[in-house]
Amino acid sequence: MPIPLPPERFAGDPDPLGVDLHMHSTASDGAMAPSEVVALCAKRGITLMALTDHDTVAGVAEADAAARRLGILLVPAAELSTRWQGVGIHVVALLPSGIRGALEEGLEAQARAREARAVEIAARMETLGLDDALARAREQAGPYRPLGRPDFARALVAAGLVPDVATAFRKHLGSGKTGDVKAHWPPLAEVVGWIVEAGGVAVLAHPLRYGLTRRKRGLLLDAFAAAGGEAAELVSGFQNADVTRDLARQFDERGLYASLGSDFHFPGGYLAPGSMSPVPRTAVPPVWTHPRMAGFVAAGCDATAAGTL
Ligand code: AMP
Ligand code: MN
Ligand code: MN
Ligand code: MN
Repeated sequence: MPIPLPPERFAGDPDPLGVDLHMHSTASDGAMAPSEVVALCAKRGITLMALTDHDTVAGVAEADAAARRLGILLVPAAELSTRWQGVGIHVVALLPSGIRGALEEGLEAQARAREARAVEIAARMETLGLDDALARAREQAGPYRPLGRPDFARALVAAGLVPDVATAFRKHLGSGKTGDVKAHWPPLAEVVGWIVEAGGVAVLAHPLRYGLTRRKRGLLLDAFAAAGGEAAELVSGFQNADVTRDLARQFDERGLYASLGSDFHFPGGYLAPGSMSPVPRTAVPPVWTHPRMAGFVAAGCDATAAGTL
């Protein structure tokens, strides 16, 4: 079955675009297996997707196999943890040319950093009364995936120390709280460098979600662009259309391309794949028209149409 090409520009069409370039699976802190995420995407009319698990591409091969079966084009990707000016910043790596060079070692380093960070978070959770915090977080995560803050949040809930995950983040694990350990992550510019060197496009994830003022967000976008970042998420989840238009202005001033994604983690949450707010009409070009993405997308749609994928 042919895969339709996504639109060349954002014309302000309120219908979903069939694109979602930010989603999680059980390879990081999502609830569904990679192939299940893809199946859900197919059901929801997604034709271009990226599985963006935290600091890993472990789910990409399984997702790609499923995507090929279901007539979806999947861009290899990951969401990488970085730090900038004391703030934890996420960068989505879109990797049409795959994983190579410094990025390969970078992903290995991220896995080690995540392990060391979990030990540090555990020590801090123990001061809050969560005994054997590392083992309890591991119990929540199951045996395979790297530990993240949501696992500690669920462990706090299971131990009866907080009523729910939202409270766990608000009091103990959210931005600036004791469990928000960022020191293990590399600087923003270093991570962007790995992505560019691998022939990928670095996308600043959810720029509205760092609690920054407009001015500080501008400085972040400046630093990101100076490091070689070329795109940012214009729409991530639900957001006000005026806010989106203002954000588009900040992208336009820096020549950034626009990406979009739901940041889907689990079904039953308020966001399903492809269900983010519509993109208003804007001159900022879609990230899939970026020179390093356009060939991949055209070839992928074509090859599937011809039955060669
Ligand atoms: P980590 O990758 O270990 O830094 O954990 C970050 C993840 O925690 C995010 O990607 C979200 O999935 C989750 N998270 C962050 N803030 C919250 C929150 N307030 N409530 C629930 N989950 C959150
Ligand atoms: Mn997450
Ligand atoms: Mn994120
Ligand atoms: Mn995410």
